[in-house]
Amino acid sequence: MGDQSLRGWLSQLEAAGQLLRRADLPDLRYDVPRLLAQHDGHRALLFEPGGEEGAVRLAANTATRREQMAQCLGVEPRGLLARYLDALDHPISGRVLEPEAAPVLEHGGATVDLTTLPLPWHHAKDSGPYITAAVAIVQDPDTKSHNWSIHRLQLNDPRHLGILILPRHLGHLFSRAEQEGRDLPAAFVIGLSPALMLASQAITPYGVDESAIAGGLLGEPLELVPSPLYGIRVPAQAEYLLEGRILSGARQPEGPFGEFPKTYGPESPKPVVVIDRISHRTHPIFQTIMPAGREHVLLGAIPREAAIYRAARQLSPNVRDVRLTFAGGCRYHANVSMTPRFQGEAKNVMVATLASAGEVKRVVVVDPDIDIDQAEDVEWAIATRVQPDRDLMVISGALGSQLDPSAGPGGVTAKWGIDATIPVGEDRSRYERVTLPLREAQEVREGEG
Ligand code: MN
Repeated sequence: MGDQSLRGWLSQLEAAGQLLRRADLPDLRYDVPRLLAQHDGHRALLFEPGGEEGAVRLAANTATRREQMAQCLGVEPRGLLARYLDALDHPISGRVLEPEAAPVLEHGGATVDLTTLPLPWHHAKDSGPYITAAVAIVQDPDTKSHNWSIHRLQLNDPRHLGILILPRHLGHLFSRAEQEGRDLPAAFVIGLSPALMLASQAITPYGVDESAIAGGLLGEPLELVPSPLYGIRVPAQAEYLLEGRILSGARQPEGPFGEFPKTYGPESPKPVVVIDRISHRTHPIFQTIMPAGREHVLLGAIPREAAIYRAARQLSPNVRDVRLTFAGGCRYHANVSMTPRFQGEAKNVMVATLASAGEVKRVVVVDPDIDIDQAEDVEWAIATRVQPDRDLMVISGALGSQLDPSAGPGGVTAKWGIDATIPVGEDRSRYERVTLPLREAQEVREGEG
C-alpha cells in the first residue's frame, strides 16, 4: 500500500525542494492569505509554530502547478488527462480498515470548538474565516453509496458552519432529506493528498462513489474507515474528520466570499451544518486552499478538461489536447489543440467543447504548432490565422456559469468560438512561424576540421 496521505505528499514536495516550512503561524486574517498568494504557482507552505510535534499545523498551496498534479498521479504532465479518464473508466473500490488501524481516528471527542482550528481568512471582503479544503462525504440512505464533493464552509460559531450547496449530487441528497424533514449526516475530511482532492471533483453520473475514482487515480484501493458517529466511510489517512449534520430547514446568512472568477459571491441565506464530533491524527495538519488560486482552479480544471477531451475526440480523433486557462478561472476559456483534416471540422469541435462543459464560454481551436499553455502564443494564432467574419462563432442565450458577473439571471450567457487553425487546403507556408538561423551546417564543417 503506497502512501495515500497529505504528509506523504508533502515529503515528496520537500524532497523536490518545493516545500517551504515556517516555524511560525502569521496572522490568519492578513498575513497568511498574502503569503499564499505570493507563493501561488511556486512552493507549498507548511506553518508549524510548535514544530513537527506542535498542536497546530497548517498546509497550503499543496499542488498549485499542473506538473505537481501529474507527479501526484505518477504521470508526465502530458499524460494527465488520459490518466484521469483511465481512473474514471477503471475505478478501484476502497478497502475498509478497523478503526484501530486508521490514523484519522487517533484522537477525537465530542468537545467541538471550531475556533481552535487555524482557519484563515482569504480575501478582503470575505464575511469571515472559511474552511476551503474539506471534502464532504455523504451516504445515500437507500443505495448506501457515498458521494464526495468540496464546498466552501463559513465559520458561523464554534459549532456551526454555513455551507454553499449547488444543485449537484450533494444538493440532491440534501433536498431529499429536507423533504422528509430529517437532517443529513455528513463527514468533512480535511488534509488529503491532491489525488483524493482530484477524485472529489470527478464529473460522474449520480451514484458513482468517488472513493473508487480515488483508488483508480492511486492505482490501488483507498484505505477507508467508518466514521465513529455516523458510519460514513472516510479516508483513513486524512488529517481531520469533522462529523456533523446539514440541518433540515435551517438557513443563515453566508457570504460574501471571493470565488474562482476572482469576484465575490454575494451574501444570501444558506444551509447550516452543526459539527457533532472532531477526530484527527496525532499532530494533525490542517489544510486550506486559496480560493481563485491555482490549486483551487486546477482541481476543477483537470476533470473538466478530461470531459472536454473525451467529448471532442469522439467527434474528431484529430483533437490532441485541451486546456482551461487560469485567466478564465479554469472554467470559462478553453484552448483546444488539433490537426484539422476537413473543412468545418474545427467548428464542430468548438460546438462540442462549448456543450460538453457547461461553464465554458469561449473556445479557441489552434493548430499543433501553437502552445495552448501560452496565452501569447494563442493570441499570435488569433492575430495571424483568423478572419473574424469567417472564423468567429457566437451562440446566444446558452446556459453558462451563475458566478459569471456578466451573465444574465440563472447564468444565461452568449458563448463564442474562434477557429484559429489554418484553413484546410490553404498554402501553409504563408503561415509558417519565423525561426532563428541555425548553424548546423557550419558546426558540421568545424567538426570535420
Ligand atoms: Mn458525485
